[in-house]
Amino acid sequence: MAFRPPRALDVKMTNAMDKRVELTGLSQLELISYVETLGEPAYRGRQLFAALQHRRLRDFEAISDLPKALRTRLTEVAQAATLKIESQYTSGDGTRRYLMKTHDGLPVETVFIPEERRDTICFSSQSGCPLQCTFCLTAQLGLLRSLTAGEIVEQIQIALNDAYGAGVKPPRGTNLVAMGAGEPLLNLDSLLKALRVMADPQGLHIVPNRVTVSTAGVVPRILDLAKTTDRPHLAISLAAPTDELRNELMPINKRWPLDELLAACKVFEKTLKPGERLTFEYVMLDRVNDSDEQARQLANLLNRHNIKAKVNLIPHNPADPLPYQPSSEATVERFKNILESKGIHTYVRRPRGRDIFAACGQLAARQGTLSNLSQTTPIGAIS
Ligand code: SAH
Repeated sequence: MAFRPPRALDVKMTNAMDKRVELTGLSQLELISYVETLGEPAYRGRQLFAALQHRRLRDFEAISDLPKALRTRLTEVAQAATLKIESQYTSGDGTRRYLMKTHDGLPVETVFIPEERRDTICFSSQSGCPLQCTFCLTAQLGLLRSLTAGEIVEQIQIALNDAYGAGVKPPRGTNLVAMGAGEPLLNLDSLLKALRVMADPQGLHIVPNRVTVSTAGVVPRILDLAKTTDRPHLAISLAAPTDELRNELMPINKRWPLDELLAACKVFEKTLKPGERLTFEYVMLDRVNDSDEQARQLANLLNRHNIKAKVNLIPHNPADPLPYQPSSEATVERFKNILESKGIHTYVRRPRGRDIFAACGQLAARQGTLSNLSQTTPIGAIS
């Protein structure tokens, strides 16, 4: 039959039928067992883990310390990389945003935020999101699917490789925040698996103490997380001080209202380590949740539950289809002062990467809007 170039549909079907094992989500022990099934000794598994996780190599052919025959075999039966960068954007402040695609064509967004003393990578736990927070752009995609542990790990590898090059040790520590697309506590098993893989000192070595998971308030999973050893830090997105308003802004509140949520936070608080604090995030929406009265209600809510948390005020990042505007700087400052006068530690979060829509809640496929920005696209699979 004459050769014809593959059509998009063919590529999708090939990917969907790809039976090769994804190795990025496997722990060192699992990789050792895996190479043993290929008839290889355990030390090859350790070598492979170091190559994939410590050196962040995303192509078996690049692992030159493995014998050629094994590399060829691995290429046939396994995968070292499934996410591809579809497009990337760099902000004037150094923030880099990536739109990646899964093997089945779904969007995954990741943001790399360089700071003087550390880098922070904001990763997605799901493609899209099932929650319907009215101020968040990702909500408009709905849930496409939860990401695998490997897809979570890959986001971090891709961002570090892009910033520093494959195999290069980052000059600063890496913090992770599960604040990209999705509700991490609706994908807790894969998330915890990814965190365990990344914590390995012979791999990426990003320990849970450097990771913050943000939730809209999935109460049973907050309680599960409280029982987890080596757990990450927790942040709770509040956005409103009363059930009435929170039901409207974050419909998940109808399932787990504020009193239940804060009772779970209280249980979680008992597991905090010295110096560790729960964080509450409060997106500031102009004339919706930013009045003096609402600041007092918020302080009273936290004080009534006797929670010694800190509050992060996040100025709303506006986006066309969202019906909100950010609170003014003066309003945010007033709100902060009221909280502080009632003994609540409050911080105002500086938006990063606003010019590339990399800020919180702005992650959603916005190809059209972004196409006129400094875009490097497409660069396909990277290693
Ligand atoms: N589902 C999780 C994690 C993703 S959202 C959660 O709800 O926490 C991460 C943070 O971004 C949340 O605190 C959320 O309230 C905030 N956020 C969402 N949309 C925003 C927007 N348009 N502007 C500012 N912050 C936003």
